[in-house]
Amino acid sequence: MNRARLRTDRIATYIPAEEVKPLCPHCGREIDGLYQQQLDESFGKAYLWFCTNCRKTLGVSHRKGFWMG
Ligand SMILES: [Zn+2]
Repeated sequence: MNRARLRTDRIATYIPAEEVKPLCPHCGREIDGLYQQQLDESFGKAYLWFCTNCRKTLGVSHRKGFWMG
């Protein structure tokens, strides 16, 4: 058992899923698009991504901050 850690970058097959819509984990409805809201912060720009149906936040991404790429 030397594979204690799951390395997601070693998944062999990626299946294109253009025809499959993801589901929002909050409202359970299909996600046709995401709202993106830009946050200006002192350490760079951050983007909030949230569901167009229930408006709950699905993720945050940072871009060009000085402390991470
Ligand atoms: Zn939702």
